[in-house]
Amino acid sequence: MATPQEHLLDWLKDAHAMEQQAEKMLSAQAERLEHYPQLRGRIEQHIEETRGQRELLESCLQRLGSSASTFKDLSAKVMAFGQAMAGMTVSDEVVKGAMSGYVFENMEIASYTVLIAAAKEAQDVQTQQACEQILEQEVAMAQWLREHLPQITAAFLQRSLSPDTEAKR
Ligand code: MG
Ligand code: FE
Repeated sequence: MATPQEHLLDWLKDAHAMEQQAEKMLSAQAERLEHYPQLRGRIEQHIEETRGQRELLESCLQRLGSSASTFKDLSAKVMAFGQAMAGMTVSDEVVKGAMSGYVFENMEIASYTVLIAAAKEAQDVQTQQACEQILEQEVAMAQWLREHLPQITAAFLQRSLSPDTEAKR
């Protein structure tokens, strides 16, 4: 048996680990992108947002009496994403990276949707508002990626045609 407050705390720790992983993956992705400045710029913007999200979660955790040292390490669970995005050496890296990014943002959307419902049940208005604020940024990032996937794909395909241009990143 566990209370909504206990589950909420648990899920907040998961989200914190997810944002730590997100920051690593996005940074690795942005650093490697050379020929896709618009995508790189949007990712850099989301790195800043992601840092803010992590800090918001930390303030929620602290308010609920949890310290940074007890944060769960979820990195194994999201390792697949990390590898997919950070260590990209595939020939279509920019396209696969944008796809993985879209999938990851949707995982975040699911997480914050659950957290908002849990915060409501736990009557924790501050956590609810923090998660609503974060959710908006995840939705915007997911939407941006979805809207730009066609043009990223087209740009990649055009660059791939020429022997003199690098296409993959
Ligand atoms: Mg996030
Ligand atoms: Fe995100």
